[in-house]
Formats: sequence, C-alpha cells, structure tokens
Amino acid sequence: MREINLTTKIAVYLLEECSEMEKKLIDAAKSATTKAYAPYSGFRVGAAILLENGEIVVGNNQENAAYPSGLCAERTALFFANATHPDQKVEAVAVAAWHNGTFTHDVITPCGACRQVLLEAENRFQSPVKVLMYSEDGIYVVTAIKDLLPLSFGDEMLK
Ligand SMILES: [Zn+2]
Repeated sequence: MREINLTTKIAVYLLEECSEMEKKLIDAAKSATTKAYAPYSGFRVGAAILLENGEIVVGNNQENAAYPSGLCAERTALFFANATHPDQKVEAVAVAAWHNGTFTHDVITPCGACRQVLLEAENRFQSPVKVLMYSEDGIYVVTAIKDLLPLSFGDEMLK
C-alpha cells in the first residue's frame, strides 16, 4: 500500500489586499445576490464571471419548488456567459452569499457540480480560472478550479 497526499494552496486576502479588478468582480458578485430567486432557502448567492475581454457576466441562484430544478449562481452565470460570449475565455469567478441580513462570515465555496462546470471552462480554453470565494472576514483565492477539484474527471479521460 502507498499513500498519495494532495495539497491545495489557498491564498486568504482581505478585501483591501485585492486588486481593483478583483474588487470589481467581488462587488459584482455581491450585487448579484440582490437579484437571486431564493424564496425557499433565503440563502442568496451571487456569482460574477470575468471574461477575457474584460466584461463581467453575473448570475445568482434560481430556486424552484421542485428543488433539484433550481440552479446555483455559478452555473447560472457561467452558462449565461457561454451562451452570450461563447468565444470568450473565462478568467475568473467571484462568489458571495447573503444570508440572515448579512454577507456570510464563512467563505462561500462552489458546490461540486459547479466546480465540475467551471473545470469544463478551464479545459475548454486551456486556461486556469481563478476563483474568489468571498466572506466578510476574508477572501479565499485559488488560481485554478483544479485546485478545488483534485482527481477531477475531464475531457482528457474521454480521449
Ligand atoms: Zn453549485
């Protein structure tokens, strides 16, 4: 028997330590929470995607009475970006969540399905997608979605 140890390097920033573009992306994600449709959970998530051309595309969670029919903020934003800007590389995504009258004090992280969809964007353009996970107390930053999805299944498996 042998062991494989996987490590993930996460940078933890304060908002004031972020670049102007990162702050803009985080602001867009925070703003997108106000338009979430979350009548069941009250957990309003916003995501903002930075495209190669500098455009920011936002999305938010869209819940449904039949729960599995809803969609997370990250995939709403990314699918909208893919639908409207199919040739634009995705450079970064910021995620923020509003719950119980405040932005969360725990970082909001993409769910497994969203990580998989973000991985597709990374593989599609052969370029890492930086992920900024917001909280009121600090921002976790990884330079590629692969860092959040070790041993991932991607297109290379199908070749
Ligand atoms: Zn998700």
